[in-house]
Amino acid sequence: RQVYVNGDYLPETEARISVFDRGFLFADGVYEVTLVLDGKLVDFAGHMRRLRRSLGELGMAFALTDEDLLDIHRELIRQNDIEEGLVYLQVTRGSADRDFLFPAEETPNTVVLFTQKKSLVDSPLAERGQHVVTVEDLRWRRCDIKTVQLLYPSMAKMEAKSRGADDAWLVKDGYVTEGSSNNAYIVTPEGTVVTRDLSTDILHGITREAVLQCAEDLQLRIEERPFTVEEAENAAEAFSTSASGLVSPVVRINGREVGPGRPGPIAARLRQIYLERSRASAV
Ligand code: PMP
Repeated sequence: RQVYVNGDYLPETEARISVFDRGFLFADGVYEVTLVLDGKLVDFAGHMRRLRRSLGELGMAFALTDEDLLDIHRELIRQNDIEEGLVYLQVTRGSADRDFLFPAEETPNTVVLFTQKKSLVDSPLAERGQHVVTVEDLRWRRCDIKTVQLLYPSMAKMEAKSRGADDAWLVKDGYVTEGSSNNAYIVTPEGTVVTRDLSTDILHGITREAVLQCAEDLQLRIEERPFTVEEAENAAEAFSTSASGLVSPVVRINGREVGPGRPGPIAARLRQIYLERSRASAV
């Protein structure tokens, strides 16, 4: 596989990053994951908008423009012949002798991109529906910044796996914040789509924004508010959204079936419309 590191396209086995990289030593870096459909990028502008916001919140300078980044994404898609999959982009504060204080502003960033060829549209997990368990949300309090500090979500997902589930939904003060790597939704017995409102408690999902627009256009009732684990366990449907999972139905929460225990019609409709729109608007 060809990867991109600081201006060069090269085989993954030849790519090199300093042991002093602040991404490696301090998780001092941000990332984006963009969906590729039909060899094209879905919601690229939205991912760039969020990348700039994450960089800004961390006071991290970054010289490349969105046009530069679009060219790099496209070149990697071409070199790796990606029809469907993901492009991962990571920007760190660069490398400097280990020190908690940030290095000088002019320290060059480390910029890495790679692709993952994956079948995301035809997904067995989306067909069957995910089983999730709830796990305490012990992340730091700036979950709105997309940093590479992913140890806790990784541990939460391991715990979910050890409990026989596919994913973890994180819970803070009795309310679901989001999934380990996705935004979380329920559909109430009355048919209202509920997802937590935007704050520093969750990542502002690019897919979330697009899917809520689909829901609005379908004239579904939408409530952006926290929901409890109990409300989720008693919902008619549940699902999650992310660039890699698109819209993914959830059919079991803490071992209890959600509704009839099969993917629900609202999640199915949203997945289909989201896909159609994404294919039509990809760049
Ligand atoms: N929440 C978290 C914690 C995530 O890691 C992700 C995916 N990176 C999302 C939500 C979904 O974001 P997006 O729709 O932009 O992929």
